Amino acid sequence: MSHDPFFTARRCQRCGGSLDGGRTMSMFNSHVICMACKEKERQRPDYRDAVEAEMKAVRNGDRNFKGIGLKGGEMSEKKTQSGIHVKLIGQDGNIFNLIGIVLRALRRNGRSDLCEPFKQAVTSSHSYQEALAKIMEFIIVE
Ligand SMILES: [Zn+2]
Repeated sequence: MSHDPFFTARRCQRCGGSLDGGRTMSMFNSHVICMACKEKERQRPDYRDAVEAEMKAVRNGDRNFKGIGLKGGEMSEKKTQSGIHVKLIGQDGNIFNLIGIVLRALRRNGRSDLCEPFKQAVTSSHSYQEALAKIMEFIIVE
């Protein structure tokens, strides 16, 4: 009996979610993942590299290829840059004022999902400079 987790895993090894909707192997490491996580992998810019590395390994007879690994940590939803342009230059630079402006811009552009992470990132900053840097991770300052 093999202990291949592919058949025994009960939960997605990445997000901990249910595998009822289907399971597959990660292209990046040896995780058994759910289809939602698979979709996220597919959208990664390095997905092609992962697939190519996998195919090369198989061609070379490596049946236990571990994948190229997930660079930049565990698929952290680091896609925080919304690409939304927000006019902050010339505004009252009070950080709470700026937060308010950005929150409104995010909502207006249908990115309410970023509001909480944004607030958390900025309000956990230890300096005004850090807070500004965090703001720039979410929006493009104009
Ligand atoms: Zn998952």
